[in-house]
Amino acid sequence: PARGTVLLQSSSVTKRFGGLVANNSVSMNVKAGEIHALIGPNGAGKSTFFNMISGVDDPTEGEVRLMDKPMRELPARDFASLGLGRTFQHVRLLGQRSVIENVALGAHLRAKRGWVASMLRLDRGEEAALLAEARHQIERCGLGAHADTPAASLALGQQRVVEIARALASQPAVLLLDEPAAGLRHLEKRALAELLSQLRAEGLGILVVEHDMEFVMNLADRITVLEFGTVIAEGKPAEVQANPRVLDAYLGG
Ligand code: ADP
Ligand code: MG
Repeated sequence: PARGTVLLQSSSVTKRFGGLVANNSVSMNVKAGEIHALIGPNGAGKSTFFNMISGVDDPTEGEVRLMDKPMRELPARDFASLGLGRTFQHVRLLGQRSVIENVALGAHLRAKRGWVASMLRLDRGEEAALLAEARHQIERCGLGAHADTPAASLALGQQRVVEIARALASQPAVLLLDEPAAGLRHLEKRALAELLSQLRAEGLGILVVEHDMEFVMNLADRITVLEFGTVIAEGKPAEVQANPRVLDAYLGG
C-alpha cells in the first residue's frame, strides 16, 4: 500500500465490561509508513484496545476496519493474509527451537491453514521456501548471526526481535506491537527503536501500544494518550508531551 494509506482504523470504539467502560469511543488509525503509539498509565485500557484492534475481541460499540473491511465480519484466519501482523505482550517462542524455526512458523500463517496441518503436508520445496523466507526476515531484523541459536538462550530484547521477525514472515502491511519495550534494557530499547524506524522507512504501518512514554517519544509519528479508557490527547510527540493533562495522568496529578 502507498505511504499514508489507512491500513487499520478504529471508529468510536467503546468496550464495556459490565458497568466498567474500559474504552470510551476511541478513534485512531494506522497508516502505511507511520508509527502510531497508544500510551497511557496502567489500567488506562491499552490491552483492551489492543485486543479489539487485533481482532481478538469485538467492541461493544463502534467498529474496527482492516484494509477497509469490518473486522467483526472477518474470520480470524484471514487477518494475516489481509496484512495484519502482531506480537504478544509476553514472548511466545518455542524456547528449545532455533530462531529460524520459530520464524518459519510465522511464514506458515501466510498459507491459510493451521501450521500443524501444513507442517505434515509440507514437501521439501515448500519447506525450503519457508526457511528461505525466515532467513530473509531474520537478516532484515539484524539477527542473522543467531539463526541457529535456541530462542531461549537469547536476551529478552533479542527474543522480542525474533517475535517481530516471525510476524514479518507473514508479510504484513501493518504491525501491532503490545508493549514491546517492557522489561528491556536501555540499549535493547534503542536497538528496537532503530529496527522499528527501519521498518517504517520500508513502508510498514506500525501501532505500538506502550506504557513507556520515553520509548515512544523519540520514535512515534503520532501518539494517542488514553486515561481511564478515554483519549485525553492526540498528536505529534512534542504536542502530546507539552499537554498538561498528559503530564497529570503520568505524574499522578
Ligand atoms: P492497560 O492495558 O492500559 O493497563 P487494560 O485494558 O488491561 O488496561 O484494563 C482497562 C480496565 O478494564 C481495567 O480497569 C481492567 O481492570 C478492566 N478490564 C480489562 N479486561 C477486563 C475483563 N476481561 N473483564 C473485566 N474487566 C476488565
Ligand atoms: Mg496492558
